[in-house]
Amino acid sequence: MLVQNEASFSELRAVGSLLTSVTPQNMDKTYDVIIIGSGPAGLTAAIYTTRANLKTLVIAGVTWGGQLMLTTEVENFPGFPEGIQGPDLMANMRKQAERFGAEFVDDNFTAVDFSQKPFKISVGDKVYEARSVIIATGADTKWLGVKGEKEKIGRGVSSCAPCDAAFFRNKKVIVVGGGDSAMEEALVLTKFADSVTLIHRRDSFRASEIMQKRVRENPKIKILYNSEITEILGEMKVEKVKIKNTQTNTISEMPIDGIFVAIGHMPNTAKFTGIDLDEEGFVKVHNHFLTNKEGVFVAGDVHDKEYKQAITAAGYGCSAALELQKWLSEQTS
Ligand code: NAP
Repeated sequence: MLVQNEASFSELRAVGSLLTSVTPQNMDKTYDVIIIGSGPAGLTAAIYTTRANLKTLVIAGVTWGGQLMLTTEVENFPGFPEGIQGPDLMANMRKQAERFGAEFVDDNFTAVDFSQKPFKISVGDKVYEARSVIIATGADTKWLGVKGEKEKIGRGVSSCAPCDAAFFRNKKVIVVGGGDSAMEEALVLTKFADSVTLIHRRDSFRASEIMQKRVRENPKIKILYNSEITEILGEMKVEKVKIKNTQTNTISEMPIDGIFVAIGHMPNTAKFTGIDLDEEGFVKVHNHFLTNKEGVFVAGDVHDKEYKQAITAAGYGCSAALELQKWLSEQTS
């Protein structure tokens, strides 16, 4: 599926990878720190570690920049009174880290070995070594897991209204969820869709008051409480859904063109063998942004299931970098 702003994302990514790239000659060197992830946490950490003169490599991922690359306007990042586009904010953070000498690999890491020092991070058949690591891999979309959903992602099922709303001009769409993300998705969609039905499994939202108020005051948004989607139907694309009323258990069908799932995120921790995770898969923070492994730190949505803001992620990135500097200096003194 086409992504709104696709050209600008790829341009930004291409510019980023031209600015600093790792050459074969420096492939074998040991970095002071490798940061895995390039959202606000990872890039802020990189700004701090490079300014502390630590040799820093950011393994940024194929689609660098994290979730803000899929957002339009960010209104609550301090310092931008008129707001800033998510991709612009991330490009600025990356440029700032590169200005101080951070190197970038715009590829996905494939494995880690934290069992011995220096730590090893593999990207395909390339292995990078570091004295310390910051895990800042963020979190990904949580899907409903109902019949008919997976095969229709990109065919009417989406998790990103800012990316895909324009495809639903004059159509009828559903947003699922009761948090701030769901409110935001519903509001974005009203700019294009004819009607937006917000479906929530309980009888009250957990979203902030201001977002709830905006949703309630928008005449295009209908709210369906105590309801869950149980199946998504359609041949090649979304055509209708089955909805269960959780109080009466009755099932009804609703013709629909699009479904936006906004029910939270899952931390990207599957590849971190040897790192303690909680029951939901978030990295456990043991002491001042340290994981259970000495020298492996953590920052951002990959450990934070509470705040999940760009600014808190950036703050965690800063804190982890400062703790790491202290830890590294204790290793050598
Ligand atoms: P969230 O706050 O965790 O909300 C997830 C919502 O999805 C909840 O209402 C939850 O229902 C529902 N849900 C979870 N699993 C479900 C399932 N399997 N089926 C149906 N519904 C399900 O996640 P979020 O909205 O992504 O927000 C995450 C954090 O980012 C929050 O701290 C939020 O404030 C922040 N955020 C802020 C902004 C902003 O300030 N502009 C925008 C977006 C997000 P229950 O309520 O019943 O658990």
